Amino acid sequence: MIQLTTATAIENAITKARTVKPRVHVNCFGNYTVENKQTGANYTVTCEKRDGKRFASCTCRAGELGRACYHVAAAVAAHIQLAAERASH
Ligand SMILES: [Zn+2]
Repeated sequence: MIQLTTATAIENAITKARTVKPRVHVNCFGNYTVENKQTGANYTVTCEKRDGKRFASCTCRAGELGRACYHVAAAVAAHIQLAAERASH
């Protein structure tokens, strides 16, 4: 489980996500499958809010170790967009 504090905390992961450009599938709000198009590897990222804090987890090795991986960065970007769309309805 990774706590998402500020954007700077996952800045490196965001930079990597921009380079790798993984495909993000929205399974449902807060649950995403991130695919590395080069390797075909799929990882599941979940985003949730607890006590006003945002958390994310990823099924990849880095994610299991509590590190912010680029899968989380990519999924969080999609999650924020989705949340903004929901809020505007
Ligand atoms: Zn990951």
